[in-house]
Amino acid sequence: MSATVIDGKAFAATVREKVASHVARLKAEHDITPGLAVVLVGEDPASQVYVRSKGKQTVEVGMNSVEHKLDAATSESDLLALIDQLNADPTVHGILVQLPLPDHLNEDLVINSIAPSKDVDGFHISNVGLLGTGQQSMVPCTPLGCLMMLRDHHGSISGLDAVVIGRSNIVGKPMAQLLLGDSCTVTIAHSRTKDLAETVRRADIVVAAVGRPEMVPGDWIKPGATVIDVGINRIDAPEKGPGKTRLVGDCHYESCAAVAGAITPVPGGVGPMTIACLLANTVTACCRANDLDPPEGLTA
Ligand code: NAD
Repeated sequence: MSATVIDGKAFAATVREKVASHVARLKAEHDITPGLAVVLVGEDPASQVYVRSKGKQTVEVGMNSVEHKLDAATSESDLLALIDQLNADPTVHGILVQLPLPDHLNEDLVINSIAPSKDVDGFHISNVGLLGTGQQSMVPCTPLGCLMMLRDHHGSISGLDAVVIGRSNIVGKPMAQLLLGDSCTVTIAHSRTKDLAETVRRADIVVAAVGRPEMVPGDWIKPGATVIDVGINRIDAPEKGPGKTRLVGDCHYESCAAVAGAITPVPGGVGPMTIACLLANTVTACCRANDLDPPEGLTA
């Protein structure tokens, strides 16, 4: 068997198109322009790239983008004061504080100071609780993107056995909640799981979110299963030349693709969906703030 490749790049483009057409309608019919504020503290190079990309894509779908770049030595009280100001600003519908923060800043305190209705990353403790109890919430972008791809590929995932490898707060746990919300039977596996291979072999859906290059081999995959590879790992690629690197997922692509029914590649799978879902969450937050229905298919 050779798996269907789930093209996250193409799927993300359709999400962005839906967002852009909804933004155009909000402007034309309600004179509202959704706005996303991104706060970056310090000069971490990877974070700078992410923030630039988020800002560019926000503008491309017709939304307002505001970037606040703060010095690495910014005090907690100054950062909290900025978040208060953004919470109160009616032109800002989404607030994202780029993580990681410098060590002297308390990440939990900072994230929980964002108004839950504007928390487009879905990391605020209120949104975590709302998601866990099946109530309307802002949903973390990466798991939301995975759910959208699963729903698109399967139609319904109700009743399927799903194994999520990884229990982080930003991917593994919310992913498990979303799968449960769609009536999967969910197992969360992690570094202490006794027999990971056997656990994964039972799954109709495998979501790998570990951060270990190619750790899931094809012989762990049940024939026909759907593999969603969240991992992004940079490894040496001497075949490309001295000092060269390439990106791989947490699943060994060739061997998994030979057994799976469907698989997301790395790069070009889950990755592009994350920023697309950030845009989707921003338009959702804007609609909810204005008592309007969010666009269909872009929420959990
Ligand atoms: P994390 O380090 O916070 O969590 C990793 C999890 O993997 C932990 O819960 C741990 O228990 C589990 N784990 C570690 N070793 C294991 C093992 N040997 N067997 C089973 N489980 C094990 O990582 P994260 O933030 O959840 O990210 C996971 C991966 O997803 C990383 O590669 C990251 O770069 C990637 N990621 C991608 C996107 C995207 O947009 N595609 C977004 C977020 C994270």
